[in-house]
Amino acid sequence: MEKIIDEKQQGNTLVMEPKAGNGKKLMIESYGCQMNFSDSEIVASILAKEGFDTTQSLEEADLVLINTCSIRDKAEQTVRKRLEKYNAVKKINPGMKVGVLGCMAERLKAQFLEEEKIVDLVVGPDAYKDLPNLINEVEEGRNAVNVILSKDETYGDISPVRLQSNGVSAFVSITRGCDNMCTFCVVPFTRGRERSRDPQSILEEINDLAAKGFKEITLLGQNVDSYLWYGGGLKKDFKNASEIQKATATNFAALLRMAAEAHPKMRIRFSTSNPQDMTLDVIEAMAKYPNICKYIHLPVQSGSDRILKEMNRLHTREEYFELIDNIRRLMPDCAISQDMITGFPTETEEDHRDTLSLMEYVKYDFGFMFAYSERPGTMAARKMEDDVPEEVKKRRLTEIVNLQQKHSHYRTQQFVGKTVEVLIEKESKKSDLHWSGRTSQNTVAVFPKEKYKVGDFVNVRINDCTSATLIGEAVGLSENN
Ligand code: SAM
Repeated sequence: MEKIIDEKQQGNTLVMEPKAGNGKKLMIESYGCQMNFSDSEIVASILAKEGFDTTQSLEEADLVLINTCSIRDKAEQTVRKRLEKYNAVKKINPGMKVGVLGCMAERLKAQFLEEEKIVDLVVGPDAYKDLPNLINEVEEGRNAVNVILSKDETYGDISPVRLQSNGVSAFVSITRGCDNMCTFCVVPFTRGRERSRDPQSILEEINDLAAKGFKEITLLGQNVDSYLWYGGGLKKDFKNASEIQKATATNFAALLRMAAEAHPKMRIRFSTSNPQDMTLDVIEAMAKYPNICKYIHLPVQSGSDRILKEMNRLHTREEYFELIDNIRRLMPDCAISQDMITGFPTETEEDHRDTLSLMEYVKYDFGFMFAYSERPGTMAARKMEDDVPEEVKKRRLTEIVNLQQKHSHYRTQQFVGKTVEVLIEKESKKSDLHWSGRTSQNTVAVFPKEKYKVGDFVNVRINDCTSATLIGEAVGLSENN
């Protein structure tokens, strides 16, 4: 259940179609959230232009890049172990260069480059276009670093290469950075302030994906509902925009409508929604267009008003319930998932019970749950003591994970006996005779392959389920093909 990002994806090396390049091989390994996986596709695209081909083999790599995550201490420890491994290989192959990308870059640049001397290159999330220059520096024997965070970099002009793609679903980045300043979260420090990408370049990327046969896109950002294009620049500077810029600005609901209308057969998903920014017009757009998937990832983090306030989540429990009620009123079949943190500083048993009762109210379809991990530099680390003992955090985590499991099962059971549309993504992991895909609600469904193929939209009658998977049989292609 604990699965913010697909743990099986963690550390995946991503490869693209080989081209006749300069003979140099790049290995790129990604950790963390979907944004990081999407960023690795941008990096591979920038380096493909420099002649690099990708490889999955550490031994044959000339350049190894690790796209890192800082969200919890455990994520950073995983990356550290990988860096140790690279350095062991470097002893055999001294020509190999190692670079750290992403969220750990800013925080640990001095430590990595100067104190521990375990990397040659450190590049922050807004500096990937500088990679060719930085690699030149490294090749000339110097360490290279660029961790400058930008006001306007969105990589809108880079057409990402699709790494390890099934050719069916792809991520499209629409915002970068985050302005929310949740007191537990390191993202505003590692990825900078929030900015949105030109809707025209987003649509062009979606058009290109549609032309290549992709059937589903996920619009990505730390806080997609806060998307606002007014000609470029930081979201926080919108107040200083001209009258004409304000009048012609594009918000998230408008972007969703544009994408849905441009490709009525393409499934459109998005992630992540922050409750404080999710407006009724977004829910209305979702309800209106059948190709916008009926699924919202709506992290709440806690069910206690007091803790929500300490976390600087800018909504109350009641306001969250209002949002849930509006979603259910306009889209009774919409799935909702959560992120939850147990053991935030000062969390009491009563606060924890508020979280359990909030979960009972919503009965989430899925959940991604974590024990609080203090992150250096965040407001919580500076102002609050990490005072909930580890075993209490763990026990509370187990309680919410168990409750989520029960609710997930309750939700999957509602599908039994119904026929649902499934987009086939891949072979089922458990059986090579079955396909695996997802419903509009993002629930995984498996069924016998028969005559169908990856990328087909199939109507599947659901006969059985576990808490995570629907089990059924195809009744025919859906009209969406
Ligand atoms: N932008 C989204 C939001 O704020 O709702 C998600 C941000 S984060 C990449 C994904 C999840 O990691 C968060 O929703 C939160 O549950 C978890 N997380 C973030 N900081 C954490 C921390 N210090 N300790 C434990 N979990 C954390």
